[in-house]
Amino acid sequence: MAGDEEKTYQARCMCGAVELRVAGTPVFVGYCHCGDCRAWLGAPVHAATLWPRGNVEIVKGKDNLVVYKHTERSHRTSCKTCGGHILADHPGLELTDVLASTMADFQWTPMMHIFYGEKMIAIADGLPKYANMPEAFGGDGKEIAE
Ligand SMILES: [Zn+2]
Ligand SMILES: [Zn+2]
Repeated sequence: MAGDEEKTYQARCMCGAVELRVAGTPVFVGYCHCGDCRAWLGAPVHAATLWPRGNVEIVKGKDNLVVYKHTERSHRTSCKTCGGHILADHPGLELTDVLASTMADFQWTPMMHIFYGEKMIAIADGLPKYANMPEAFGGDGKEIAE
């Protein structure tokens, strides 16, 4: 974050009971195809934005959240009222995933696809496709074809 002007974004669940303030620059913007994300969301692919944990603040509805930990790696958090998913905290990575579609005025510029080896749908967009994750995020860094 060194010195650059910090942008902020507001994220909210569908009913508005929960609101987040997200500041700065995400370290990852892209699609996750892993089976856990797909099962949690009930969607064929997940649009993820990963931020340093300290950049994500719950400004409203902290006591209106429900957290589901299918594994300790991902603390998947949703609104109790509308059931809307809003974030997944990854303590081991020190990163928090804010679901891209909960953020107003966030420019969606994906960098890559991760866990493409588990994909349900193919997306031929020319972006790098990792079988699991880049080495920087603890994966093997292996890229696969679209
Ligand atoms: Zn809600
Ligand atoms: Zn995933």
